[in-house]
Amino acid sequence: MKHVNIVIVGAGIAGSILAAQLPDHLSVMVLDKKRLDGHPDSFKKPCGGLIAPDAQRSLAKLGLTIPKDVLASPQIFSVTTVDLPVKLTRHYQRFYLNVHRHKLDVWLASLIPEHVEVMDQSVVTKIQPHDDYVDIEYHRNQTTHHIRCDYCIGADGANSITRSATHAPKIRQYMAIQHHFPLHNTQPFLGCFFDESITDSYGWFGVKDDVLELGAALPLTDSLKRFEQLKSSLLTMGYPLDQPIFKEACLVNSPKSLKEIYLGEKRVLLIGEAAGWISPSSLEGLSYAIDSAIMASKALVQKDPLVSYTHLTRFLKVKIKLKQWKSLVLYTPLFRRWVMRSGLSSIQKIKESADSLHIVHGKAGKK
Ligand SMILES: Cc1cc2nc3c(=O)[nH]c(=O)nc-3n(C[C@H](O)[C@H](O)[C@H](O)COP(=O)(O)OP(=O)(O)OC[C@H]3O[C@@H](n4cnc5c(N)ncnc54)[C@H](O)[C@@H]3O)c2cc1C
Repeated sequence: MKHVNIVIVGAGIAGSILAAQLPDHLSVMVLDKKRLDGHPDSFKKPCGGLIAPDAQRSLAKLGLTIPKDVLASPQIFSVTTVDLPVKLTRHYQRFYLNVHRHKLDVWLASLIPEHVEVMDQSVVTKIQPHDDYVDIEYHRNQTTHHIRCDYCIGADGANSITRSATHAPKIRQYMAIQHHFPLHNTQPFLGCFFDESITDSYGWFGVKDDVLELGAALPLTDSLKRFEQLKSSLLTMGYPLDQPIFKEACLVNSPKSLKEIYLGEKRVLLIGEAAGWISPSSLEGLSYAIDSAIMASKALVQKDPLVSYTHLTRFLKVKIKLKQWKSLVLYTPLFRRWVMRSGLSSIQKIKESADSLHIVHGKAGKK
């Protein structure tokens, strides 16, 4: 059986960054189920594709600048926040970069150096951790392959097979459903919706070129029904939702407590969302994926990588704790409404554009 130093499961954000950061004296293999040549038919991760300031900082630390073709149009500088049950609307300034998520993944994977063996269209089906090595089974081209490694890194996202091969505790999960609609003549905007009768997380609107994306993180029970309920609430308020041209869904992690974050055991390390590194308040995960990958790359050259990784990521845990407190305010209707009514940090739009639906229908929320 082939034996390498490190196998990285997943060439998403975390996996690609780690593969690019590891020193070239290590033999490294990356396995991912999607095609990395950008082929439109391959698996695509559903994502809002917004790069928050924290993730921009993480990219800056790596000296990375985003190529033009990864950027989506337009770049929007405010988020319209709506509390649906009380129809309360506020606008908040935000500093996101709007990108095509799949193109971001493909670009980051293209930065993996040549000494790393990258196997796309490879689905990992079994991981067996032992004291001194890890055995991995994957399927590629209708053939089953086996590989042994010194360390296996789970960078395989929310539905991580690597995490399930360990004794990791259960992590809170939502079903993220996203539908794409034609944008028509509506002025592009970013939106964020709260309605505790639908979800104790939130829903969002985003725009990528001429497509409007409506998404929501929903409890696992009745998620589709809840999504339809959100859609009909938004339709009643005049939002532009025709027939969807594309539908997608996936699990998203949202750690309720720090105990749900699991860094690994024996010779398995978890990075990115597989570990539970994602903000429970906004579901921003890109900065955590990048930062945890950088920290794992430093840990993997130490004598005891798990001990070192645990030490290096202690500040990420503090950050998650702060986000957990923030989510208490955001997702408790009383607190949220108090903050929104106070107008704290909100911006007053001087003039709504004539083709903005908020004006056309005049019923998208109280100002
Ligand atoms: C709907 C939605 C919207 C989001 N929007 C944003 C946003 O706007 N901004 C933000 O910062 N965060 C957002 N997030 C969170 C963010 O997408 C994740 O936290 C981030 O992608 C995590 O990166 P990762 O590398 O850990 O995992 P992923 O990006 O999920 O990558 C995992 C990789 O592993 C591969 N893989 C999985 N299982 C296997 C297997 N068995 N075999 C082989 N390969 C496998 C997948 O193909 C994938 O390439 C969103 C999440 C969701 C669900």
